[in-house]
Amino acid sequence: MTSVARNWAGNLTFQPRHIGCPRNLEELVELVERSEHCRVLGTGHSFNAIADCDDTLISLHDMPTAVSIDSGRATITGMVRYGDLAIRLHQAGWAVENLGSLPHISVAGACATATHGSGDAHGVLTTAIASITFVDGTGRVVCFDRAHPDFAGAGVHLGALGVVSELVLELVPTFEVRQWVYEGVPFTEVAQHFDEITSSGYSVSLFTTWDPPVMRQVWVKERVDGDQPPAPGRRWGGSLADGPRNPVPGMPAQNCTPQQGQPGPWHERLPHFRLDFTPSAGEELQTEYFVPRPLALDAMKALARIGKRIASVVQISEIRTVKGDDFWLSPAYQRDSVALHFTWIADEAAVLPVVAEVEEVLRPFEPRPHWGKIFTMPAAELRARYPRFDDFVALTERYDPQRKFVNAFLAPLLLR
Ligand SMILES: Cc1cc2nc3c(=O)[nH]c(=O)nc-3n(C[C@H](O)[C@H](O)[C@H](O)COP(=O)(O)OP(=O)(O)OC[C@H]3O[C@@H](n4cnc5c(N)ncnc54)[C@H](O)[C@@H]3O)c2cc1C
Repeated sequence: MTSVARNWAGNLTFQPRHIGCPRNLEELVELVERSEHCRVLGTGHSFNAIADCDDTLISLHDMPTAVSIDSGRATITGMVRYGDLAIRLHQAGWAVENLGSLPHISVAGACATATHGSGDAHGVLTTAIASITFVDGTGRVVCFDRAHPDFAGAGVHLGALGVVSELVLELVPTFEVRQWVYEGVPFTEVAQHFDEITSSGYSVSLFTTWDPPVMRQVWVKERVDGDQPPAPGRRWGGSLADGPRNPVPGMPAQNCTPQQGQPGPWHERLPHFRLDFTPSAGEELQTEYFVPRPLALDAMKALARIGKRIASVVQISEIRTVKGDDFWLSPAYQRDSVALHFTWIADEAAVLPVVAEVEEVLRPFEPRPHWGKIFTMPAAELRARYPRFDDFVALTERYDPQRKFVNAFLAPLLLR
């Protein structure tokens, strides 16, 4: 197992008693059965200790990696990364509906935390799952498809139900995308034209540092369906960028997927960052909050009021839209949402007080934090944000009666 000692961002050091690297399903079952506590580490791209474990940290790197495609569905094993999956899918004429900003993450790890991209019509990445198979806390191999009564509880599972060994994903036919970047779109225009902006492409992201009150960049990712005119030179008070851009100030544009309307496969345009380059800033911390879409503009205005404070420690903020879904622990559970994301500087002591201020300002807008990023919200408040939280706890008690998968991060949420 490589780089288990730290997560991708380097802000966490994992210190498990054992590292378990099963080579097949039988070894995985045996490992779970004999572990007192265990957690799986995916590609380690979470910023908080959700994957951590003081006993057995499981890596699936030595398990066979498989992708098979049949009848519009892909069956994949537990350690497949989106970047590798996407290449296989595209070659076979298929795609997944959406991707996050980077292709480097594992599908199982991303779906476990409700990782998302952007788009009014697209839910979190978990919504592509047609069935999920995992080794539960008793060593049983269980499989839920969409018709199973526990499916909605098990989709966004935080790694608390067991080890996902296989996923079946619903596919769509492959498609091409082109992206345009607009610069300097004032908040006043965003406030007036928010719905028009977010529906202007298949996937749209707005980037700001909150002070000054302007979107430094608006990325519009359009599906290419036949002949389409080029994007207008000016829109919403901003102008089309005259070259490729990186949304993170100071980072090179070459790390990013092609822009300026150059069409290409979905998987080389939907993520902002290229698989073979450093995603985002590299040295950073991240937080993100989902607010209900009808409250989003007021939430953004509230953030702008503490814009100077945010700007003092933020590298960039990204605003994305996410369609509501039915996964009990999805931050978009039964709410069409706007996700307000912050890429902070890599200085926890400076950043955490601002995170707490952001949460204070957002509290009236019922924010739900991203499960894989940093937040300070107390467990009781977090639980109260999810109408089915108690049902999820009951589910974890059923599939993990000895509470093997409860770590220090989850204990305040799941133990009662
Ligand atoms: C640069 C960067 C950009 C990002 N961009 C986005 C973005 O655009 N959108 C977004 O929503 N998030 C984003 N994230 C956050 C990231 O997508 C999530 O933290 C995601 O969960 C990371 O996946 P991973 O494979 O690294 O999982 P890990 O961080 O390794 O694990 C996450 C959770 O999944 C569990 N898990 C992993 N694999 C399994 C398995 N096989 N079985 C059971 N449980 C498992 C772990 O135990 C843990 O609880 C970004 C992160 C980084 C570092």
